[in-house]
Amino acid sequence: MDFGFLQHLCDEIIRDYGTRDVFLIAEKVGVSIIYESWHPVTFGEFEKNTKTIRINRNALASAANAEDLERKIVAHELGHFFAIDLKLGRKEEEKFARAFAEIF
Ligand SMILES: [Zn+2]
Repeated sequence: MDFGFLQHLCDEIIRDYGTRDVFLIAEKVGVSIIYESWHPVTFGEFEKNTKTIRINRNALASAANAEDLERKIVAHELGHFFAIDLKLGRKEEEKFARAFAEIF
């Protein structure tokens, strides 16, 4: 799939929510962010039914720049949130979330 529309979508999100801060965007779209610890060390997850981003504290603990990693995790998981209406397959959605996070 070509995500050529992605830059435009992100520009719209930034304009509509008045910020490019992914933490603020999450708050404005009603996505909660929670911090947990689990193994293996995957970075984060997005739960669609509860609109919740789960961040793995273990991943942050071993990161050289935890603040930057945390922002990147939120951006990626927010990509999964904005992918909901696109009804992509699992692999395509993962690609979308990665490309989304690159923009933020
Ligand atoms: Zn993902």
